[in-house]
Amino acid sequence: MARRMLQFITLPQQTPDKRAVTQRRADFAEIYQDFDAPRAAEQSSRCSQCGVPFCQIHCPLSNNIPDWLKLTAEGRLEEAYEVSSATNTFPEICGRICPQDRLCEGNCVIEKGFESVTIGAVERYITDTAFEMGWVKPGKPRFERPESVGIVGAGPGGLAAAEALRRLGYQVHVYDRHDRVGGLMIYGIPGFKLEKEIVIRRWRLLEEAGIVFHLNADIGGAMGFDTLRAMHDSVLIATGVYRPRDIAGPGVGLPGIVPALDYLMTSNRQGLGDDVPGFDDGSLNAAGKNVVVIGGGDTAMDCVRTAVRQGANSVKCLYRRDKANMPGSMREVKNAEEEGVEFVWLAAPEAFLGDDSVTAVRATRMHLGLPDASGRQSVEPIEGGHFNLPADLVIKALGFDPEDLPQMFGAPDLAVTRWGTLKVDSKSFMTNLAGVFAAGDIVRGASLVVWAIKDGRDVAVQMHTYMQQNAVATIAAE
Ligand code: FAD
Ligand code: SF4
Ligand code: SF4
Repeated sequence: MARRMLQFITLPQQTPDKRAVTQRRADFAEIYQDFDAPRAAEQSSRCSQCGVPFCQIHCPLSNNIPDWLKLTAEGRLEEAYEVSSATNTFPEICGRICPQDRLCEGNCVIEKGFESVTIGAVERYITDTAFEMGWVKPGKPRFERPESVGIVGAGPGGLAAAEALRRLGYQVHVYDRHDRVGGLMIYGIPGFKLEKEIVIRRWRLLEEAGIVFHLNADIGGAMGFDTLRAMHDSVLIATGVYRPRDIAGPGVGLPGIVPALDYLMTSNRQGLGDDVPGFDDGSLNAAGKNVVVIGGGDTAMDCVRTAVRQGANSVKCLYRRDKANMPGSMREVKNAEEEGVEFVWLAAPEAFLGDDSVTAVRATRMHLGLPDASGRQSVEPIEGGHFNLPADLVIKALGFDPEDLPQMFGAPDLAVTRWGTLKVDSKSFMTNLAGVFAAGDIVRGASLVVWAIKDGRDVAVQMHTYMQQNAVATIAAE
């Protein structure tokens, strides 16, 4: 049934139902249930079809949200899918894991007093339906081009670029040091936010489109970067950022203190059916342990919620600021609280206690001071505010920095910023090496899937321009 729009006055916001907490704690399946057709249409009809849609302005991909909401409300789902997929390479993934409260939904301007349209859930529903109905087709080109492209990194940035370039007819080769495609979407983000089958489904489609994946291909290791450059007409570096920020303090080297990504990758691999030594020998498995996770971002939230599902005895999150100042999405904090995670706000680790392995974290209470130059309140320790938290697994989730790419790639001339991210021209996305482009976290620093997709789509346009200009120049010179 086609619905009229602007129903927000009478229809309250309804997000997709969550599975019961007891079920959630026992498995790694996604926690949100699917919208059904009536609910999706009803919720879409709450949109007031703003003349200046702030939701769209604050979506990194400038998705045409009002249009696909209207089409969904009218039951015209295939058209909604066409509109939604025109600007987003992986809409069903963004619908699941974008921090909508900070992006589209956080800027939805339904009149004050009414809650936002559930944009992410509708976006997910449209594309999940499109897959079910067989509307999602591999992006095969209409004609083939002779030029080939080498993409290092099969994360969302590399994949979005690969998809766009393949549609244009290029011979696209994607190289990744892992044995599966997806980057952090497959090995970082846990299944309860993004089930692995969703990522694998995309991998299959990209292969069907004719993209060639070279897995277990460590560029800078087994294959030299120069060799790769010589094989392709242009190269994209989309390698993400993987160097964990560390923590200082006595006892920090004790066994039982582990980096977040080692822990999450082990859990994801185990879920995918791999034999993972760190899981089997217990060193990266929270079962039966008192777990303390240090950090307040989304990675920390993923760690605490993974530990709950592995059957930890207790799970605490130690964060030096308060809840209002957490960098992580509030939606994820709420989910973690519901699942039994205990947050220790305004507390920072001082030392790690134990003989053969960690047994406790010695922490100190903090208070918020005056805002610094960036406007963020500083944190200061409270004198005498020490306390111990029992812990036999401590997970460090303090963020990531780029690896030393010029050194890794044996390309000392490759220019980097003072943060170690790759320097690119702001318009062409080209690095200082001719024909070498870069996109995603390796340019922005640790960011979001939706931004990596945006960068991947944008860089593809620039690589196309570059290769066509080169082709014209070659013909002219002949
Ligand atoms: P990546 O996804 O990191 O992919 C880079 C790829 O390059 C990897 O597959 C890697 O194996 C490969 N690679 C690296 N070096 C080499 C080499 N030398 N040779 C060959 N291959 C190489 N974002 C969200 O939007 N929502 C979330 O909920 C969310 N949760 C997150 C949870 C965790 C735990 C983490 C760590 C991040 C999360 N993010 C989330 C951030 C998001 O995953 C990243 O911003 C995004 O994946 C970056 O995409 P990318 O393509 O730049 O890099
Ligand atoms: Fe919102 Fe992300 Fe979808 Fe954009 S891509 S509409 S920010 S959920
Ligand atoms: Fe609809 Fe909200 Fe976007 Fe306005 S801001 S067009 S109400 S979704």
